[in-house]
Amino acid sequence: MNYLSTRGAGAGERHTFSDILLGGLAKDGGLYLPAEYPRVTADELARWRTLPYADLAFEILSKFSDDIPAEDLRALTRKTYTAETYCHVRDDESAAQITPLKTLGVENGAPLSLLELSNGPTLAFKDMAMQLIGNLFEYALARHGETLNILGATSGDTGSAAEYAMRGKKGISVFMLSPHKKMSAFQTAQMYSLQDPNIFNIAVEGVFDDAQDIVKAVSNDHAFKAKYKIGTVNSINWARVVAQVVYYFKGYFAATKSNEERVSFTVPSGNFGNVCAGHIARMMGLPIEKLVVATNENDVLDEFFRTGIYRVRKAAETYHTSSPSMDISKASNFERFVFDLLGRDPARVLQLFRDVEEKGGFDLAASGDFARVKEFGFVSGRSSHEDRVDAIRDVFERYDTMIDTHTADGLKVAREHLQAGIPMIVLETAQPIKFGETIREALLREPERPAAFSGLESLPQRFEVLPADAQRVKDYIVANTSE
Ligand SMILES: *Cc1c(COP(=O)(O)O)cnc(C)c1O
Repeated sequence: MNYLSTRGAGAGERHTFSDILLGGLAKDGGLYLPAEYPRVTADELARWRTLPYADLAFEILSKFSDDIPAEDLRALTRKTYTAETYCHVRDDESAAQITPLKTLGVENGAPLSLLELSNGPTLAFKDMAMQLIGNLFEYALARHGETLNILGATSGDTGSAAEYAMRGKKGISVFMLSPHKKMSAFQTAQMYSLQDPNIFNIAVEGVFDDAQDIVKAVSNDHAFKAKYKIGTVNSINWARVVAQVVYYFKGYFAATKSNEERVSFTVPSGNFGNVCAGHIARMMGLPIEKLVVATNENDVLDEFFRTGIYRVRKAAETYHTSSPSMDISKASNFERFVFDLLGRDPARVLQLFRDVEEKGGFDLAASGDFARVKEFGFVSGRSSHEDRVDAIRDVFERYDTMIDTHTADGLKVAREHLQAGIPMIVLETAQPIKFGETIREALLREPERPAAFSGLESLPQRFEVLPADAQRVKDYIVANTSE
């Protein structure tokens, strides 16, 4: 499998899965994609239907990473996708399914269900890919006798998923910046209670953007970056995207009886990483009818799928909402889809994303390309805080099921795209306990707390408070890196 950049640089070069595993953007600023999507045969689809999650993950990932020996990859997926790792909510036998499908009911003739992606250690869907990344990075570093310092900034979900994936991993340290005293007590406790010596929590005296700026400043110091082997695991990482393809297959098999049927998925979206994986599953031949992109008030993506206009939001137009993991001003994985939409023409992608940088967006409304969005199955919708509160209340009353605010965005939008006879699967991306305030508002009661998290906030915490100063962060990394 060869990988290429969406912006076309180095077109003649070969990049394997391992080559791009630890990196981020391609050197021309584009994103990596496979030179072509592997197609799944009818025989494979029939055989995959009954596989356990770890073995399904192996089958799918091996099509994208033929440079990793099969026995090694199988060992990695079996180590990653275990009932023990994905049992933090479930303690019944369905934990072994890793991503169980929860049936709600039939609405407008469409069977409606939730695909549970948030049973992992941090109770959000980012664990699905990040746990694999932890094992893949450890494996790849050991193979080449290398080490890595992962540097990141977080306002909650991503940072904790990265820490729980990397804790105790050989050759890897994590330096995670978070805004001091700005996260919820639950999120703070989740991260800061980790006692593993390779995890460093840095509480920056400032807001999230200050933390983000420090990460950029440190990464732009190329000499420092090379000497201290600084890397990242942000949402454009290809391995993260491809690991998410697996649960679209798993969800499809759970919702259907035969491979003749079609299903639709609704995906609560921010950076377009999750739904990009759905697009790839569809390109591989999984019978997906619609991919419904659900946004909150930060509706960059909904605007594009309705109008053909992609317009990056300014900071003042980026809202803090009750589904904060979808509060984005631009969607960092979107370029991957645009590349396919434009018939994989890197020169046009380069031009469009130059327009994004220079003019803040682009308009495909008049071009024939936008009409093709439908051929790719994409539709969209958005929701407001009120919609989320209504959805949480309605699902609780009607189906005795508590959902979080992000899943509520998905459910609200899913209901606008139901088709009789076609199962609609809403991706459940987080647990209600992470966003308790809105649960209390909607249901006048406390969110369910999984047993594994009782007393979390009273565990001892380990973190370092530093001023919002890149040099101080560098000094801290130096002091905590062994040569
Ligand atoms: C990250 C996240 C999302 C958005 O996923 P993208 O891949 O960025 O589109 C949605 N819900 C939750 C809970 C998340 O953590």
